[in-house]
Amino acid sequence: MDYSVARRRMVEQQIVERGVTDKRVIDVMNTIPRHLFVEAGLQGHAYGDASLPIGEKQTISQPYMVASMTAALELQGDERILEIGTGSGYQTAVLSKLVRRVYSIERIASLAARARKVLDKLQVSNVNIKIGDGTIGWCDQSPFAGILVAAGSPDVPTKYLDQLDVGGKLVMPVGGQDKQTLIRVTCLGDGRFEREQLMGCRFVPLIGEQGWKSDSFA
Ligand code: SAM
Repeated sequence: MDYSVARRRMVEQQIVERGVTDKRVIDVMNTIPRHLFVEAGLQGHAYGDASLPIGEKQTISQPYMVASMTAALELQGDERILEIGTGSGYQTAVLSKLVRRVYSIERIASLAARARKVLDKLQVSNVNIKIGDGTIGWCDQSPFAGILVAAGSPDVPTKYLDQLDVGGKLVMPVGGQDKQTLIRVTCLGDGRFEREQLMGCRFVPLIGEQGWKSDSFA
């Protein structure tokens, strides 16, 4: 099945027409085969305007959200990026084409394994995936020029601020269990940060030491 027409339509109608202007992000999303990151029975819906289930009560994020969060990092190409919540690996694949290296953490081992398999199939070789609690970041590899968190948290885990390079940007959903606000935090240096609110959003919970304690409410 050739999904290239559906993919082009997704990018045009859901991403460009809604105001995402970063050409590198647009070009990459025109090339990544999103249907390979969902199970066979859902491939026909992969280019729709929605998140989709990927098992384990988790989701692959809506294309517009992937594009908006990626664009908000204002990537130039030589960055080392931390991603929290590998999920299907789709957002990871998008990031991998826009930066030097992606460090991605997923707490559910079966999802991390499946993501790794798809990324290998696509010959993506600049991604390190770790299984564990991403709310504490990845200290050994810090500082990062960007941190993208694809799960919602009551507030910003302090470790992310510690692991952000000067000039670096953190993009993540913050708020309640049902809905959150997508925020961007820029590290200004000398312990100073600028915090911006980007848009309303709805993500699965970030579960761990510095996030929600469980997903029993989900
Ligand atoms: N961006 C992903 C994609 O394109 O498929 C979707 C990510 S999904 C919305 C959120 C992911 O965050 C889930 O796979 C979930 O298991 C993971 N997650 C939640 N809490 C986490 C934590 N503390 N550390 C790492 N991953 C976590």
